[in-house]
Amino acid sequence: MAATTTPLDDRAIGEFEATVRGPVLRPGDDGYDEARTVYNAMIDRRPAVVVRPTGAVDVMTAVEFAREHDLLVAVKGGGHNVAGLAVCDDGLLIDLGLMSSVRVDTDARTARVGPGARLGDLDHETARFGLVAPAGVVSITGVAGLTLGGGFGYLCRKHGMTLDNLRSVDVVTADGDLVHASEDEHPDLFWGIRGGGGNFGIVTSFEFDLHELSDVVAGLIVYPADQAHEIVRAWWEFASEAPDELSVWLNFSTAASEPFIPEEYHGERILSVIPIYSGDVDRGWDVIRPLRELGDPIADTVEVHRFVDWQQAFDESYPAGERYFWKSHNFRDPSIEALDRITDGALSPPTPETRVSVTHLGGAVNRVSPDATAYPHRDADFLVNITTRWDDPDRDEECIAWTREYFDALAPYATGGTYVNFTTESEGEQSMAYLDNYDRLVALKNDWDPDNRFRMNQNVEPTV
Ligand SMILES: Cc1cc2nc3c(=O)[nH]c(=O)nc-3n(C[C@H](O)[C@H](O)[C@H](O)COP(=O)(O)OP(=O)(O)OC[C@H]3O[C@@H](n4cnc5c(N)ncnc54)[C@H](O)[C@@H]3O)c2cc1C
Repeated sequence: MAATTTPLDDRAIGEFEATVRGPVLRPGDDGYDEARTVYNAMIDRRPAVVVRPTGAVDVMTAVEFAREHDLLVAVKGGGHNVAGLAVCDDGLLIDLGLMSSVRVDTDARTARVGPGARLGDLDHETARFGLVAPAGVVSITGVAGLTLGGGFGYLCRKHGMTLDNLRSVDVVTADGDLVHASEDEHPDLFWGIRGGGGNFGIVTSFEFDLHELSDVVAGLIVYPADQAHEIVRAWWEFASEAPDELSVWLNFSTAASEPFIPEEYHGERILSVIPIYSGDVDRGWDVIRPLRELGDPIADTVEVHRFVDWQQAFDESYPAGERYFWKSHNFRDPSIEALDRITDGALSPPTPETRVSVTHLGGAVNRVSPDATAYPHRDADFLVNITTRWDDPDRDEECIAWTREYFDALAPYATGGTYVNFTTESEGEQSMAYLDNYDRLVALKNDWDPDNRFRMNQNVEPTV
């Protein structure tokens, strides 16, 4: 490759700048640092060149430019990936942030979404029409990375993963071509896009199916640490029988000084049981009632919310610009011992900012075959995500070690699968993320990106 490439000098960058419509930035330029900054403050990488495309043609030109100069390519959607895969050292950063438009077609009940859109952009445009695209639960998360890795949120039990609601995509390939992929066009590529991350090309447009939804019954039912083991056991007894309209998540955190938490618990570890009912509101109250009668809660904030508002309920709990290390396990049919081990670790974090969240899966997610899309985890009942957070770089080693230790302690009880979008390290996690779909992903990579141009992702290495 290197023999046929041309040097990356001022002239080459000037020519590139003249052929794209979006800004081209170099170290020292206004906007360069903003473009290279991602969610996790642990990541501090400096690309040689940044381009901020305004459309698919700029993306095509950027891929050709990278090939001509043999540059490593990083692709940034929302920049929320905790592993920092959206940004590289030295190569070309393609920051899609300017391509954030969302267009809703109310007749067809679909939305066309640009690859720089955040979940909040998508929810804002669809909510006005009483519609929703099932996605994640923090509004500044990028639609692109979330969808390409899977995408679960409060509606996945009813409507499936975000990628199950994807109708089609436009993709710029490693050759710099623009192709449309769907069940009917390039179905192989469409299969791989749905769970294989950014391995096969750069998606420049997503088309989603939308569903009707305006209000939900949702809130936090909060318990002190000394009730946590008992409540987690009771939670699973209830949640394992829940209808698809109901998701019940858990979140372990340290109580801040929110007015709804009694003062004596401020600074103490707490467990929030979080029901979200997305069917008929009156029925929702009835369905959730037994959950509100478990144990002796110190707070109960369940009420009717506009779904679009509830989608922002946790935004402040996961702020950008902090140091993070995440690891996750999937669980199926857990034993009491498994539930207790999850609770033990969640109650003894290295920092008060550390949260452990339990995502309720099952329902429509699991009614899809594991090989129908590249996302293979169709057997998990729930996922435990360890989101260790701290701010002092001197504590990096300790916080990372704690996360790994907790993750290892849970491994004997878990399914052996992990969510590609929650991994912070690649060693050993590729096989856990792609499971039995890995060989088919390699074959696809050999077809669509044999030179591994797109490798800033949970990489599927080509074998040609
Ligand atoms: C606070 C927080 C909450 C979260 N909540 C949820 C949740 O509820 N549900 C859930 O499923 N996930 C959740 N996630 C995980 C989330 O799905 C990932 O972080 C995801 O990578 C975010 O997408 P992004 O576009 O912001 O990623 P980026 O960091 O921009 O990119 C992630 C990866 O995707 C690639 N990529 C990005 N855009 C494109 C594109 N257009 N074409 C090809 N490749 C591309 C990048 O190169 C990189 O490899 C959460 C993450 C955070 C930090």
